[in-house]
This record gives sequence, C-alpha cells and structure tokens, in this order.
Amino acid sequence: MKCKYCEKVKISGMYQLKHHLARTSKNVGACITVLENVKKLMLDMVYMLQQNLIKKSISKEGLWDSSMDDLENAKRRLRREESEES
Ligand SMILES: [Zn+2]
Repeated sequence: MKCKYCEKVKISGMYQLKHHLARTSKNVGACITVLENVKKLMLDMVYMLQQNLIKKSISKEGLWDSSMDDLENAKRRLRREESEES
C-alpha cells in the first residue's frame, strides 16, 4: 500500500495511511505533499476513531461497574433480610 499523494512512503494499512495523511507522525512518517483539506479530513477521522475507542472502553468499564454494583446490592439486600429475621 502506497500513499497516493507523495507515492514514496510504504504504508501497511488504512490506520497508518490515516495517520500519515493527518500528519500525526504516529507510527508512520508524515505526508509532505498532502493537501491541507485532506489533512484536516484525515485528522478528523483519526480523532473520531480515537473518540470511538474511548467511548467503547468507557462503556465496557461502565458495564463492569454496574454489574459490581448489582453484586454489592444483592449482598446488602441479603444482609438486610438476615438482620430482619433475627
Ligand atoms: Zn504521503
């Protein structure tokens, strides 16, 4: 896979191509001939991808937290029921 703007850099995938065009210099060299509007578009795409990743990891943690809360609530309810009986 080659960048269609500078045609010099070898890129191993879409992820690297986006970073190359966005000129983030992350894992791959920045593109020197990419147009400003393309760079901006790629930056937006990279940013959106990162936001999605963050959202995904938060929702995963959120799910874990809520299930832990349920467990704690269940324990507390059990304890309360036990104390009411005695
Ligand atoms: Zn390039």
